[in-house]
Formats: sequence, structure tokens, C-alpha cells
Amino acid sequence: MTDADVIIVGAGPTGLMLAAELRLAGVRPVLLERQPWRRDTPKAGGLGGQILELLRYRGLLERFEAACTGPVPAPRFPFGGVHLDFTQLADPPMHALPLPQQLLERLLDERAGELGVEVRRGHEVAGVSQDDGAVSVDVRGPGGPYQVSARYLVACDGARSRVRDWAGIGFPGVTYPEVNRLAQVTLPDTVTVLGNGDLDIPGSGTIRAGFTRTDHGLFGVGSSPGSQAVSLYTIEDESTEYDDDVPMTVTELQDSLHRVLGLHLPVKEASRLSRFTFKARQAERYRHGRIMVAGDAAHLFPATGVALNAGLLDAVNLAWKLAADLHGWAPAGLLDTYHDERHLAGTRTMLHTRAQVALRRGHDAAAEALREVFQELLTDEQPLRRMGALVAGADIRYPTPGPGHHPLTGTFAPDLTLHTEHGVTSVADLLHPARPILLDLADRPDLHRIAQDWRHRVDIHTAKTDDRPADILLIRPDAHIAWAAAIDEPADTAAPALRDALSTWFGTP
Ligand SMILES: Cc1cc2nc3c(=O)[nH]c(=O)nc-3n(C[C@H](O)[C@H](O)[C@H](O)COP(=O)(O)OP(=O)(O)OC[C@H]3O[C@@H](n4cnc5c(N)ncnc54)[C@H](O)[C@@H]3O)c2cc1C
Repeated sequence: MTDADVIIVGAGPTGLMLAAELRLAGVRPVLLERQPWRRDTPKAGGLGGQILELLRYRGLLERFEAACTGPVPAPRFPFGGVHLDFTQLADPPMHALPLPQQLLERLLDERAGELGVEVRRGHEVAGVSQDDGAVSVDVRGPGGPYQVSARYLVACDGARSRVRDWAGIGFPGVTYPEVNRLAQVTLPDTVTVLGNGDLDIPGSGTIRAGFTRTDHGLFGVGSSPGSQAVSLYTIEDESTEYDDDVPMTVTELQDSLHRVLGLHLPVKEASRLSRFTFKARQAERYRHGRIMVAGDAAHLFPATGVALNAGLLDAVNLAWKLAADLHGWAPAGLLDTYHDERHLAGTRTMLHTRAQVALRRGHDAAAEALREVFQELLTDEQPLRRMGALVAGADIRYPTPGPGHHPLTGTFAPDLTLHTEHGVTSVADLLHPARPILLDLADRPDLHRIAQDWRHRVDIHTAKTDDRPADILLIRPDAHIAWAAAIDEPADTAAPALRDALSTWFGTP
């Protein structure tokens, strides 16, 4: 007998998302977070990529958009010293939401609370052990040490995951010896922001607006006309490994500015002080027995803007599979598909973020030429769309066992508008409760009758849609297509294939 179904270690974005998804699937997680309260260290400035679609499919996107403080940015994304500029495309392959991470965590925390998640803040996991039936955890809580056990444990404890180490999961890769520091500051009256954005520092000289490369690193400054508020940015070669949860101080920023520029830049006030180091590391296994890793505990990518997307999608992929196992109907191997699918997705993100390192780090004329050629290619629509889908994590096709699958199998379900006898709805609307769906788009009772045996696990819908991509779509709770029947596919091939797919993903009826 265990105390909980699932222990989640870490109430960062990944842990909170996972907890909410598990509750949707009828599982009771306990979430252990060592910090006594929600942190306010500035980290990500927003969310981008496929996770925005998923949030829409859960009915959450409007709420997240409503909480956005800043203006929606032009759809331009940095890509290793060049950029993807989607402004010319009516339907860009990638979107972004300017939602600071503190706000994102608040929204996810609220959602978890509404769904009845038990979050224990100030409870640090100090040790983990597992056997065939359960995982046990030593916790240091405000009332003293105690133990808690569960059928599974998911390590969402971030980049320096101790659970990953205790589970013996390797985290190979590299840490680039380069530290990035960012801040928004206001400058004292002694410093003048000139009309062209240059900074005039009495006794020290002028700093050019934009980027300045020195022998000691890179410095960047940006400002708005007439404002004493500026954004500062430095990059230095440095091999110190900082803890992301220990905030950068103004002194640390000024010291860095001094090393890079050789001058002292006085600062009046500072906000959004942040520092990050690029790492390219991926857990060699996402599962070891009853312990799984997700989010930063599973992968660190050497470029900005992709980590949250990957981590939150890990959570969505894992939750329904854990729930299936806990409810006793998971087919053999279902939980292992978490590693197969999300490790593959992580490898793909690693591919383009490593490519960004190569583009970004070169400082000679050859590197400049590479960036120029790359940027030129990205003015053509097709490569731009392809790169957009890659960066968004939208081009993933999860592997499906066996030959001859419909091209949609393993892909993210398109958001079709659906006309049903009850009115107009959509794939996104049907996925709000995060249940599997069998969608009959061609009035094929010969096929959808088969799913009746699974009706307690799979919701069956009949609908019409314009330009139907298939006769039947079998959609998993994470919005990926488990199986599809080709248009007018005869029942003698489609029926056994559908039965197989239902058993493969949703167990024996
Ligand atoms: C300056 C900066 C800028 C960034 N910008 C972006 C960006 O623009 N886009 C983007 O996608 N990503 C960005 N990131 C990365 C993003 O912040 C992380 O990917 C994200 O926080 C990972 O979420 P997580 O939940 O996996 O881990 P974390 O957010 O690290 O959460 C882990 C949690 O586990 C807790 N914990 C750890 N150990 C224990 C333990 N033993 N017991 C209990 N609790 C424990 C920690 O206290 C923490 O709350 C940025 C990061 C930094 C530092």
C-alpha cells in the first residue's frame, strides 16, 4: 500500500503541468517542492512552439493570453545569430506568447490547485529508493523528516536533478564555457542616452548602441528613445557553473560589464536580472524502473526559447500513460513509449540548438559568411516554414510499431472544425478533458462500432469536416494521432488495424 499514486519532485513548470494532467486523468499526485514559496527569479520571458497549441487544446490558451503583460511580439525568433522572420507569412508555423516564467508558474499553480493537486512547498526530497512495486522518498519538511511512497516518481527537479543521479540515469553532453547576463536597468542622470541609442559616460567615453565585441566578450545595449531605461547584455567565456535559482546581483552585472568593456557603467535601478549558461545535455534514459525524468531534468538545450516547450510537452506525453498504468489498463510497453517518443523529440531539439551554437559562436569572416548564407535561405518560404516547424517541435512524428501506417499516424492532430448533430465543435474542444477520442469523419459505423468495446476509455464522436484528411482518427490524450483510416479504406483491412491500434494504445477492452 503506497501513500500516493505518483510523487512529483519539483514544482517548476514541468512538475506543475504534469500534476494538472495527472489530475485530469484521474490520478492523485503529491508534488514536493523544496522552496517554501513560488520563486520570483526571472527566467524565461515567454512560451513558444507546439505547447501553445496544446494549451489551446486544453482550453487554457485564452486564460494564459489574458495574463500576458507585454505586447505580442512580432513573429521573429532568434536562431543562432540569425533570425526566423515569419512576418510575411499569413499563417506562421510557430507562435510565441510573452509570458514571464513567474507568471506562467503562477497560472500553472492556480490550475493545479483548481484540479485539487496537493503541492507541498518547503518539502525537500533528500533520498529516493525503488523496488518492484513502489518508490520511497525521504523528505525534509517543515515539521521534520518523513517518508512518502508511491507507485511512480517523476523527477521534475530541474537541471541539477539529484533524483536523476540517485536513479543512476546518466546526463551526458557538454557545458559551453560561456556565461550570458541580461538586465533591464535605469541609468543615473550622469549617463546620457544619446538620440542614436549610444551611451555617453562622462570620463569614460561612449558605448555604441547594439552589439560591441571586445577581446573579453560581447556587450549589447538597447534602449527606447527618450528613456533612461536600457537593456544590457554580456557574454563572456567563463566556466563557472551557476545555480539558475540563485539570482544575479547588480554587482555581478557591473563586474561583467567592467571585464568586457573595461569601464564602469553606473546603474541606478535594475530589474529582470538574469544569467544563463548554455548546455547540451540529455538524459540517456527517461525512465529507470518506477522513476522518470522530465523537463530540465531530462534535457538542457544550448539555445533560448525551446526548453519550456520541450518540458511541458514531456509532461503531457507522460501523464496519460502513467494514469493508464495506475488505472490498470496500460498495454505492455506503453510507459516505455514515454522514453521512445520524448527522447526522440529531445534529440530533434538538440539537433537544431546545436546547429545554433555553430552559427552563433564563430567570430571570423567565414562564420559571418555562414550566417549570411543561412539568413538568405530563410527568406524563402519553404525553408522558413520547415525551420519554424522544427523549432516549434511540430515536425515530430512519433514512431509507431508495424508497417503501412497512414501518414498522419504519430503526428499532432490537426484542429479540424467539426459539424456534429449537436452543433459545431473542433478537435481542440474535444480534447479539453484529455481523454482518447475516436473521431469518425466519414460515417463509418463498420469501423467505429469496433471502438464500442473501449468506450469507457475512448470517447467516440461522429462528425463531418471539410476536406477530411482520413475516414477515422484515433487521437491520444496528448493530441497525437494513434491511428488513422485512409479515405474509403475497406473494412476488411481497416477493422483489424483499428482493433490492433486500440489494443496497442488503450489496452484490452
Ligand atoms: C535566465 C534564464 C532564461 C531562460 N529563458 C528561457 C526562455 O526564454 N524560454 C524557455 O523555454 N526557457 C527558458 N529558460 C529555461 C527555463 O527556465 C527552464 O527550462 C524551466 O524552468 C524548466 O522547468 P522545470 O520545471 O523542468 O525545472 P525548474 O524550473 O528548474 O524547476 C525545478 C524545481 O524543482 C525543485 N527541486 C529541485 N530539487 C528538489 C528536491 N530535491 N526536492 C524538492 N524540490 C526540488 C526546484 O526548487 C524547482 O522549483 C531560461 C532559464 C534561465 C535561467
